[in-house]
Amino acid sequence: MATPFSLEGKVALVTGANTGLGQAIAVALAEAGADIAAAGRSAPTETQAAVEATGRRFLSIKADFGSTEPVQRVVDEAVGTFGKVDILVNNAGIIRRADSIDFSEADWDAVMDTNLKVVFFLTQAFARQVLKQGPDARGVAGKVINIASLLSFQGGIRVPSYTASKSGLAGLTKILANEWATKGINVNAIAPGYFDTNNTEALRADQDRNAAILARIPAGRWGQPSDIGGAAVFLASGAADYVQGVTLPVDGGWLAR
Ligand code: NAP
Repeated sequence: MATPFSLEGKVALVTGANTGLGQAIAVALAEAGADIAAAGRSAPTETQAAVEATGRRFLSIKADFGSTEPVQRVVDEAVGTFGKVDILVNNAGIIRRADSIDFSEADWDAVMDTNLKVVFFLTQAFARQVLKQGPDARGVAGKVINIASLLSFQGGIRVPSYTASKSGLAGLTKILANEWATKGINVNAIAPGYFDTNNTEALRADQDRNAAILARIPAGRWGQPSDIGGAAVFLASGAADYVQGVTLPVDGGWLAR
């Protein structure tokens, strides 16, 4: 029986789905019924196996999101294979760590380009496509889920371009929701807390930082990638049709502390 959380018949485009949070989100969306187009620069072999094990279809699209060059092609390839696209998860992201006093222009530009500029233009290409497709029976044309950060709310330390990009992403989530809510496009974000992925390897390797982080998380543990999928399924589903412009923390209580 269909539930409000079912993604049966939907197609989700997920960036950076070869590993970490993007992989977990792609698999969770597939378990909820969506076919998956995974766009990124590394082969998503593991993700493909996990998605196909759910009985859903999988497409790998090669794309380097260091620039806007691939954005239109990525949407076109997803539509070329599946006939349409319904859900976009902007997950691909990078972080560069250095004291702000020494931070380089190259590290500023790389992070801002991948985490913010490319996200905007990929979302624009996605929105143009779903508006062309028109709304479904519920009046929904598309769902956008941006992967933000606790640094969409907080300042952090030694990651100036990351904080700027993720704070910007929370703002972008709101403006796009304002412009597109009446067009049947939901734009929301998820702010993961501290998750055990490649992105946080340096933090976990630093014993003092690791202990300080753990001591502040009310749940008392790092998030595992499997902790993130439910929030993505919710925001992609009919259960969230009236949810617009939010950045939903999934952080073991970190921001409540
Ligand atoms: P991750 O394991 O490092 O994964 C990052 C993903 O982004 C990978 O698939 C990576 O592909 C992709 N990517 C990076 N640069 C790319 C580029 N130029 N072109 C195409 N793909 C690119 O880290 P993660 O923790 O899963 O991060 C996923 C998202 O969650 C990011 O936006 C991150 O900022 C956010 N986040 C993570 C945490 C956390 O605690 N882990 C917390 C808050 C927010 P490759 O494998 O090819 O590099």
